Amino acid sequence: MPDRFATMFTCIDGRIQQPLNEWVRKHLDVEYLDTITEPGPEAVLAGTGERCLEVLLEKVQVSQRAHGSATLVIAAHSDCAGNPVSVDEHRDQLRQSLARVAGRLPNTRILAVHADRCGEQCWDPELVAEVPPAATGVRPAA
Ligand SMILES: [Zn+2]
Repeated sequence: MPDRFATMFTCIDGRIQQPLNEWVRKHLDVEYLDTITEPGPEAVLAGTGERCLEVLLEKVQVSQRAHGSATLVIAAHSDCAGNPVSVDEHRDQLRQSLARVAGRLPNTRILAVHADRCGEQCWDPELVAEVPPAATGVRPAA
């Protein structure tokens, strides 16, 4: 049985790596999570120029080609130094990120996740929206 990989585009923040890793492995039934980091990734994906976006998507495609990952998780979190906006704005930017990236990664399921604080050293990742493989529309999480 081949190794099962997913890919995550997430923040540099060291506090959220483990909670997000656990959430993804539990919800996607994968063993490994290839991880690309930028400060405030949802703001970057939602707002950066085409050239920067292509560089970032190329990093995702390395994971897809090398490890057969067919799932991309875009993750945001509260108390983000790289993108200090409200939780509602994080969610809006996650949806914008999904809409922007969806048509550019064929055969890829894309999930947007936001990790909110649930206490000292506690983070609670939650699905915000998801795009099934090959689809272009964004549907909100149930
Ligand atoms: Zn952050």
